[in-house]
Amino acid sequence: MKFKTIIEPFKIKVVEPIKFTTEQEREEILKKAGYNVFNIPAEDVIIDLLTDSGTNAMSSKQWAGIMDGDESYAGSKSFFRFESVVRKITGFKHIIPVHQGRAAEKILFSIVAGPGKYIPNNTHFDTTRANIEFVGGNAVDLPIPEGIQPDLWHPFKGNMDVERLENFIKEKGPENIPLVMLTVTNNSNGGQPVSMQNIREVREVCDKYGIPLFLDACRFAENAYFIKKREKGYENKTIFEIAREMFSYADGCTMSAKKDAFANIG
Ligand SMILES: *Cc1c(COP(=O)(O)O)cnc(C)c1O
Repeated sequence: MKFKTIIEPFKIKVVEPIKFTTEQEREEILKKAGYNVFNIPAEDVIIDLLTDSGTNAMSSKQWAGIMDGDESYAGSKSFFRFESVVRKITGFKHIIPVHQGRAAEKILFSIVAGPGKYIPNNTHFDTTRANIEFVGGNAVDLPIPEGIQPDLWHPFKGNMDVERLENFIKEKGPENIPLVMLTVTNNSNGGQPVSMQNIREVREVCDKYGIPLFLDACRFAENAYFIKKREKGYENKTIFEIAREMFSYADGCTMSAKKDAFANIG
């Protein structure tokens, strides 16, 4: 019999002990919190499934980078390094660092959204929805019908329904839609990927009505990986080339760097 052993290509150098509780203690903790998990001290949680935000292990190089970080108040060399890498991947000129994704959304939507404004998305992440609604705007989800049927197989269940998007723009008027957003991958809808073809088609509709397209790009790298694996014509392209093409259809993006293999804040 042949064994296939997968050896993880890294060493685990740091451990953080977790506190174990008994079933009875957990019942007490839940009761005391009024059955609201947000009221439970994190120390009392054995496995925390609240979010994937900032929960990844970082590499030794990343931790070493913190020591080498330049905290200068202005003109920090760390900023210029960050800016040049983000520019290389996205092709965007103006890069604004924020402490995490929701802060970027707050800046963007307090400028463009507001009462009477509609922001369509394949599916809004809870923080983009909250930032739009906070300023009085309307967050609208337009996923493809296959995307909301868990038992169905489809390679790109994160796609936006392009026909519904166009009808929606005609109904509300392009002047009331400051931008269209695409979340790659579509995290609030199961972390499903969006195809390059879908991004291109959404771009075409946006161009037809003069509306900018923004990506919610927090897991663009994984989305690019799915395009490489599942979309015809991309098998031999690198993840970098695919990501670059994805961003080339967008006018801008917001991004949390706390997901996948990036960092625990930023
Ligand atoms: C996590 C996430 C955000 C918010 O990012 P934070 O860094 O947690 O504020 C926004 N959009 C998507 C799609 C996300 O998954």
